[in-house]
Amino acid sequence: MDKNDYRNTTYCESFELIKVKKSQLLSEIRKEHPRAIDLYDIVKEEKHKNKYYNIYNYKCSYCGASLLNMPRNYMEVDHFINKSSFFKASEAGKMENLVLSCFACNRLKSSFLLIGKYKELLFPDKEKIMNVFFRDNNYGIKIKKNYEKDLKINEFYNKLLLSSEFRKLDFLLLNLDGLSKDPKAKKIKEKLGYIKAKLLEKRNSIDIYK
Ligand SMILES: [Zn+2]
Repeated sequence: MDKNDYRNTTYCESFELIKVKKSQLLSEIRKEHPRAIDLYDIVKEEKHKNKYYNIYNYKCSYCGASLLNMPRNYMEVDHFINKSSFFKASEAGKMENLVLSCFACNRLKSSFLLIGKYKELLFPDKEKIMNVFFRDNNYGIKIKKNYEKDLKINEFYNKLLLSSEFRKLDFLLLNLDGLSKDPKAKKIKEKLGYIKAKLLEKRNSIDIYK
């Protein structure tokens, strides 16, 4: 499962059991807030935040960028299906609809309208999104053949700038983080640190709105 996930490098832990981990956190939250429907602000509270982020291994559920490589406030909680698509806006704050997203994905996705089968296909908590996108040999995120001509998938892909260079940089940084934790890389740790600093400098100079 892991190596098919465009959001993970070979060093990353897989996005497994998100549903199970979310329901565990939900039962903890329920002790304090037995009737709350909208959990958006609650999962962001300091005492729950780390546990919530941990469910996603501190990575964006859409692109896989790591919190290690961005300012702390650049990781956000996103309503997967936006509020206006719900009969009652509070329903959008249900645990299952809240996903971890980097600043870029959250802002770019904005009010993207998810309808019909796309609510399933693009839902980052499930494996289906791994059948839609893949990581090519050039570190880029690409649309799989089956969905190449799918307009809605293309719209999502373009809106989130998934083909942009900065997505490649995020992936390279993620690889470097993994590699530097490898005991075999001990001797080159300093060099890796230098490369990482250079890459981060480049990554942080990119303005997603340009
Ligand atoms: Zn992202």
